[in-house]
Amino acid sequence: MSVFKTDAITLGRTDYSDSSQIITFYTRDHGKIRTIAKGYKRLSRKCSSKAIDLLTHYQILFIKKEHTSLHTLTEAVLQNDYPILRNNLDNYYRVSCMAELVNEFTEENDPSKQLFDVFLDSLTGISRNTNAIIQLLTFETKMLKILGYLPELKRCVNCKNSIQQLPEVYFNAAEGGVLCKTCQSKFRNGINVPLGAILIAERLVDINLQKLGRVKIQLPICIEIEKMLRYYITAILNKELNSWQYLKGME
Ligand SMILES: [Zn+2]
Repeated sequence: MSVFKTDAITLGRTDYSDSSQIITFYTRDHGKIRTIAKGYKRLSRKCSSKAIDLLTHYQILFIKKEHTSLHTLTEAVLQNDYPILRNNLDNYYRVSCMAELVNEFTEENDPSKQLFDVFLDSLTGISRNTNAIIQLLTFETKMLKILGYLPELKRCVNCKNSIQQLPEVYFNAAEGGVLCKTCQSKFRNGINVPLGAILIAERLVDINLQKLGRVKIQLPICIEIEKMLRYYITAILNKELNSWQYLKGME
């Protein structure tokens, strides 16, 4: 039995008993963990200060138990609860979408400091309302790269020719990337994506998050990138994200 201290972002929570909850965190040092939080449940206004909120940055202390994946939360010190985020529903759902992606794409106790930092920086960026749509797209491409799921966006996955000059480009989730028109005809499914959207998505992967505030991308291009990423993510997870139904209004 050991006690650990780490930075954590709340991904989810469910009631466990009258006075305790199971809280899922994405932590910097331990990856996704599930903890039981006793006495942390929001019972009344009076003890709401002890409640653990979703999509919030804490520094937590927890006791790691062996032979079980459910650890015990002993302390959570609030670092940032992003008050502005809670007044903007669209941006709140964008961050919910990021949390859902982290939850779906990661295994418990499999840490990635890089993913944690990108998640925290993106959460901070959206909470400041800086380019929220672009922030989400950038987070998605960076997360896919960090976790080894980034699709091929430069060359046709079949013939390996560069797509730079092609008038028509397709994206095929099952093949893991872009296809030229000739090769597309040999495969099933796939979607037509404007070349500009693919080239910009490719640039978002390695963009410096601190400089994202200065980046401008036309809304129609953002919509095409989002369409392509949703199609790809759906194919990997074999389901759609819950938060997407709240984010339909992007168009
Ligand atoms: Zn090809």
